[in-house]
Amino acid sequence: MLFSGVLKRINKRWALIHLDKDADIDKLSMLLDGKTPSVDFNVDDERTISPDQRKKIHAMIGEIDVHMGNYLPEMTKVQLKEQFCVENEYYHEFSFSDCSISLANKFIEFLIDYCLRENVPFLTMPLDMIQEQYNWDMKCLEYRKCIICGKHADIAHVYAVGIGRNRNKISHIGNYVMALCREHHTTQHGIGIKTFMKKYQVKGLKITPEIAEMLKIGNYQVNTGDPLVVTDRSYTAFWKGEKSD
Ligand SMILES: [Zn+2]
Ligand SMILES: [Zn+2]
Repeated sequence: MLFSGVLKRINKRWALIHLDKDADIDKLSMLLDGKTPSVDFNVDDERTISPDQRKKIHAMIGEIDVHMGNYLPEMTKVQLKEQFCVENEYYHEFSFSDCSISLANKFIEFLIDYCLRENVPFLTMPLDMIQEQYNWDMKCLEYRKCIICGKHADIAHVYAVGIGRNRNKISHIGNYVMALCREHHTTQHGIGIKTFMKKYQVKGLKITPEIAEMLKIGNYQVNTGDPLVVTDRSYTAFWKGEKSD
């Protein structure tokens, strides 16, 4: 059971917590009833939101926005924030540029609930986790699945990196590739590679000799897209420290 309140005082290993007005004291007393039930408590340590949290929040808002048919992410963000405040009885202004880590986590949970409840195609969160854990981009290329939606991918989209680099049109080694279905291929061309990568949180895969071979034997329709005009360093920075709110 979750109870909220504020931490008032610490005396050695004793902590005094002032519970919120709406806390179910009766229930709590019942749980206590001569026993010593264990508790965990999460204290807002005032660290600010991490870039990773911000990225997740924006990607999910983006998906919800499209699902709602708003196509105005800023407006959708305002609506979701309002709903979050009402549901959580949280009546303070906050911004994703400097809110606390715990508030950001609460908001992410709220977004997950929202997606499940409203049947928003639930792409970013699971994909994000899979990407980190299971080498998603590579598997997609291997099994010819779209990295965004998992539908059949027949297009391997190759992005040249850097300006003025001599593209090796045969091997593409050193460039980036991603497996896309027709629909997402079209989307990518519509919104541009930078927006696309940010929106769907995809990174692409650096082409190794093995991957170059796979593209040939996999009978992929290899397309060359807009160049990624970034150095390796700014490419990493792009993913790790987004400045935008
Ligand atoms: Zn797709
Ligand atoms: Zn293309």
